[in-house]
Amino acid sequence: MSGAPDWTVVRGDFPLLTRTVHGKPLVYLDSANTGQKPECVIASVDDFFRRYNANVSRAVHTLGSEATEAYEAARGKLARFLNVRDDELVLCSGTTFAINLVAYSWALPRLQPGDVILLTRMEHHANIVPWQLIAQRTGAVIRVADLLPDGSLDLDALFAAMTLEVKLLGVTHVSNVLGTINPVATICREARKRGIITVVDGSQAVPHMAVDIPAIGCDFYALTGHKMCGPTGTGVLWAKREHLEAMPPFLGGGEMIKEVRFDGTVFNDPPHRFEAGTPNIAGHIGLGAAVDYLSDLGMDNIAAREAELLAHATEAMSQIDGLRIIGTAPDKAAVISFLVEGAHAHDLATLLDLEGVAVRSGHHCAHPLMQFFGVPATCRASFAFYNTHDEVEAFAAALVKVRRLLA
Ligand code: PMP
Repeated sequence: MSGAPDWTVVRGDFPLLTRTVHGKPLVYLDSANTGQKPECVIASVDDFFRRYNANVSRAVHTLGSEATEAYEAARGKLARFLNVRDDELVLCSGTTFAINLVAYSWALPRLQPGDVILLTRMEHHANIVPWQLIAQRTGAVIRVADLLPDGSLDLDALFAAMTLEVKLLGVTHVSNVLGTINPVATICREARKRGIITVVDGSQAVPHMAVDIPAIGCDFYALTGHKMCGPTGTGVLWAKREHLEAMPPFLGGGEMIKEVRFDGTVFNDPPHRFEAGTPNIAGHIGLGAAVDYLSDLGMDNIAAREAELLAHATEAMSQIDGLRIIGTAPDKAAVISFLVEGAHAHDLATLLDLEGVAVRSGHHCAHPLMQFFGVPATCRASFAFYNTHDEVEAFAAALVKVRRLLA
């Protein structure tokens, strides 16, 4: 681990965090929704448009080759960050696209009536709805692995649910609502023993901890760039090369072909086979800058910093009467879902906003999880390394004030 950074200096890298909201200093606690961007990411996108904006892989002129080089360099940075090969990384618009790509290119041609797609109750809709669509088209059925009351996966039940009919398991690495960190390496090992293909949703893991995909041992790993300091509309699907080779394209168009004839088209090799059309060039160059930035800080330093903020916030919130934290698994990322007795989550979030505190309220694209906890919605405070202990105190003080107003 590199030495811990000076977090006050790090905070200064984020220009947006100096703004005020309703006359109060902004306390941004919605990083699980989207993360804020450091100056270097903003500058890299700005630099692309000012100096070498051009389409990739199409032009031989200087700007075209500079843009292509920077775009492919971003792929290389992401590959090193995740400890995988460049040619196993499909650049795409985010986790939603990545999971749909697996669903339509891997699962749709393979699943048969009676096959089972196993999911956990804590999945984001992005790791539920594509599978429902594929189940409808193939006759496969969805099986759900349930949770323990603290919001951990019930591993015994999950392993018991891995019967012969299960062909694919979709599991989130970290829950966007509960913060639960799932033991994905163990889960994937058990799935592998039974020949089950694993799709891990890494959206909420990659921003918070070092992720070594080969050590997880999954078949597919999806992530989204905007939660890890990168621009929106960026992301990655990692897949084992053998899967990518065997998958037909999901979208057809420019860039994903070698030769097009009206009597037959020869597709490009992976990963470009899956990158039809003009990609988000600026965005992925920005994501490459985000990867450099996070790597310089050190993912282990980030994890340690966020663990401190989580412990501080959990302690401060537990002092507040009538406040219930939903999701208390022993291994958690810095995400806290909560409710205050007698108050609707949206009212809470609206009043907190008047205090300058940005939290998300709603179902967090996880309806089945809300059903499990018997609530229509929660408020969610999600922290990043750029938050401060003073902000945790300001958040707790705002909660006390808002609770009084709602009493
Ligand atoms: N999975 C999880 C766990 C998420 O938190 C999110 C974003 N809220 C997604 C998938 C979807 O990501 P995107 O909207 O960037 O495709």
